[in-house]
This record gives sequence, C-alpha cells and structure tokens, in this order.
Amino acid sequence: MELPNLDKARKRTKNKVEEINYELNDLYKNIGKNKTFYVKTYGCQMNEHDSENIEGLLESIGFKKNNDMEEADIIILNTCSIRENAHNKAFGMLGRLKHLKEMRPNTIVALCGCMAQEEVVVSEILEKHKHVNFVFGTHNLYDLPRLIYENMHNVKTNICVKSVEGDLVEGLPVKRVSKFKAYVNIIYGCDKFCTYCIVPYTRGKQRSRKMEDILNEVNELKENGYQEVTLLGQNVNAYGKDLDLGYDLADLLEEVAKTNIPRVRFITSHPWDFTDRMIEVIKKYDNIMKYVHLPVQSGSDKILKLMGRRYTKDAYKTLFNKLKEIDGISITTDIIVGFPGETEEDFLDTLDIVKYCKYDGAFTFIYSPRVGTPAAKLFEKDETTLEEKEQRLYRLNELINSYSLESNKRMLNNEYQILVEGLSNKDGMMYGYTETNKLVNFKGNEDLIGKIVNIRIIDAKSFSLDGELVE
Ligand code: SAM
Ligand code: SF4
Repeated sequence: MELPNLDKARKRTKNKVEEINYELNDLYKNIGKNKTFYVKTYGCQMNEHDSENIEGLLESIGFKKNNDMEEADIIILNTCSIRENAHNKAFGMLGRLKHLKEMRPNTIVALCGCMAQEEVVVSEILEKHKHVNFVFGTHNLYDLPRLIYENMHNVKTNICVKSVEGDLVEGLPVKRVSKFKAYVNIIYGCDKFCTYCIVPYTRGKQRSRKMEDILNEVNELKENGYQEVTLLGQNVNAYGKDLDLGYDLADLLEEVAKTNIPRVRFITSHPWDFTDRMIEVIKKYDNIMKYVHLPVQSGSDKILKLMGRRYTKDAYKTLFNKLKEIDGISITTDIIVGFPGETEEDFLDTLDIVKYCKYDGAFTFIYSPRVGTPAAKLFEKDETTLEEKEQRLYRLNELINSYSLESNKRMLNNEYQILVEGLSNKDGMMYGYTETNKLVNFKGNEDLIGKIVNIRIIDAKSFSLDGELVE
C-alpha cells in the first residue's frame, strides 16, 4: 500500500526525469474479457485526456465500454481537486456507488485523479468508503491493469499513490473520444506553486515531453484524419525549460504547424512565460488558432503578489496588448474572487482589468481553500463573508458577460470557418467552434460532423452564436 503525502509531493529536485515506455504484461491480457467498464471524469482537459488513456488501458486488457454505469463491472471515478465543489461531487458519487455495490457486490469501484493524491481524501476513503476497491494516483495510471488483476485475486482496498515529482510515460494506449479533434500532452505537472493551487502537489514537477514524441503523435493523428490538436499542459509556455535541449514552445508550435494539421490549439498559457517569439509564431502560421486563454486571476497587484503569480497588473496589460496585435485574436481568462484579504478596492482593480481587456470570455471562481496550500492558512483569518464574495462574483460575471456579448456581436454578418462537432442541444441544429473558439449553432446535417465549413453569423448571444451555412 502506497499512501499519498503532500510534504513529499511539494519537493522539487534537479533529478533527471525517468522515461518509461509502457508495455502490457502478458499476465493481464484478457482479464477484462466479457466484462465492461464505466469511467466518470471530473475536471479539466488534463483529466479528460487521462480518461482517454484509462479507457485505452481498459480496452487493452479486454474490457468493453458500457454507457450504463449501473451495469458496468468496473467503475472508475477520475477526480478533480481544484475546488471544494469538485471534491464534493466525487464524494457524492461515492455515496451513490455504495448503494450500487450493495446490489452488485462484485462491481469493482476505483478512484483516481487529483483527489487520489490528497492525504485527507485517501484517509476518508479508508475510514468511510470501504466499498472502494482501489485508489490510484496521477503518477500511477499505467498500474491500472496490475491493480485490477490484484483486486481480482485479493478483495482488500489497495492504495497505489506515489507522491513523487513524476516520470514520463510514453506509449500508453488511448481511446480518443473524438475522431477529428485530439488532446496531445506536451508538458506534465507544474512548478509555479501559485499559493491557492493544489495542482503542483497533485501533478508533480514540470516535465516536458520530447519534441519528436509530440510530433510523431501529431503526424499519426493527421494521417488518421484528425482536423485539430490541442497541445495540453498546466502551463504550456514553460514547455522545454526542463529539457535543456534548446527548444521551447515557440519552436514546438512552429514544428506542429508545419505538419499542416488544419488546426493547432494550445492551453493553458501562463503570462509569466509568454515570449515575443511565441507571439511571432502564432502570427506566422494560419493553422495556429488565434485564440489564447490567458488567466489573470486578479487585477490587484497586492492580491497577485499574495497569489504568487509573478507578474503585475501592468506587466499583464503589456503582454495583453502585444497579443491583441495578432489579427482577429480572441483572448479569454480565469479570475478568482474572494482570495483571502481581497478588499472591495482590490476587487475594483479586478473589474478595472476586465474593463481594460474586454475579454471574449472568462471562467470565474470564488476562492476555495485547499488543504496544504499556503493560501489556506491566510483563509483562516479571512474576514470577507461568503455572501460578499458571491456578490462580487455576480458583479464580475455581469461585466464579463456584457463583453462576451459585445465581442460576439462584432461577428454578426461576417463569415467564419467552424469545425463541426455534432448535434446541438437545440432542436435540429448542429454545432461547432470557430478558430477563435466561439460556439456556433447552425442548421445542417450530420454528414458535416468532423468537417471544417464556412458559416455566416446571424445572431449573437453572450455564450454562443447562431449561424447559417455558406455554400
Ligand atoms: N494552470 C492554469 C493557470 O495557471 O491558469 C490553470 C489551472 S486550474 C486547473 C484552472 C483555474 O482554476 C485557475 O486558473 C484558477 O483560476 C482556478 N483555481 C485554481 N485553484 C483554485 C482555488 N483554490 N480556488 C478557486 N479557483 C481556483
Ligand atoms: Fe496552479 Fe498556478 Fe500551476 Fe496554474 S500555474 S496549475 S494556477 S500553480
């Protein structure tokens, strides 16, 4: 049994990252024969992509996907610990699974993802959720076949969570959700240690994949008809810094663009590591999408400092203005309100930066204390009430939504290319995304799914656009 430990997870050394080439042990082949799996995913794109690997691993040992959780032989919860509500959702689901397991005692229930890396979570599971068969951490995905095998031979809860800086595993099987757009990891972990954030503890140190491995993956996707790749990392702009091989995100973006895959995206950008060369490359290649997600978190220099974000409001604005020079660019952001010590004045600074940047969209959150992070200690002395924080969030969202609407309205009557993704929730409509990541609904048929088509915008709302096909 290997239990998580936040103190160990915090450590960073200069030790070389170990590279592992995944190979399936013959012992585990076919252990899932005639059995089915159900994977429930919470959280960010990183988790969504991990679930694609989990499903790939399960299929490689004979399991088949089941869309009905209640009938599956193995249920895996891939969890997120970024905020309290993600946490609560996963525990709520564990409660539901307890009843399910009473009816079907042979069902295997497992938990993985960021919550698995937290001591408090694993202790609670061991104490109160004995129906969980095993827990595996973010560094242990490739252990899944072994854990299932062991579980089939030993019914005790098995905890397999390494609290290490992490290694690099190449060659994991993958079952991609989409046949035309794909996530490609370029960098794992994070060394920024923003004071509110649990990610550097749950995901380990910054580890970049080798450029050749990434390009091989992109080329293979292109050969298989994929239209879009999204290069993934908690902080993609730090790509390559840990490798010392003389290349960075600018070089990688350029090489990925040269594969001629129709659309290249990258997410998430940290303002600290964004260089002028990266901006030049984004400008230079038509197939690099003109869309940047650039979290600002706060507009107050005092709060940015307490958050450990390593930039000031002015430095952020300078970068923002450089990015705005890219023709047709759309920029979105993340903002936290109610960070411990945030006064009304600090909050007004946040509204100010939103007014300055007029973002195309934003994800906004109320600060949520995470055990083990420095800000959680500040939170103990925080005097702002939850009600005040909710009011701030409301005011912020009103402002953000007005700018999203404004930017969408500017698109009216113009033509854009969208990659069609599927049937919309709206009756008889299809949906897709523009190059700048705007959601467009339009009348069309299912043959268009996976294709890039021209659309004229005929109506604009805050969160989506309506369009019509241009022949
Ligand atoms: N690495 C990215 C970055 O630096 O912006 C994103 C990381 S996180 C998955 C996505 C967003 O969650 C962050 O940008 C931040 O706004 C928010 N977040 C992280 N920790 C939080 C916390 N403790 N409470 C509230 N929001 C949080
Ligand atoms: Fe968390 Fe900051 Fe790292 Fe983003 S850059 S993952 S917010 S620590």
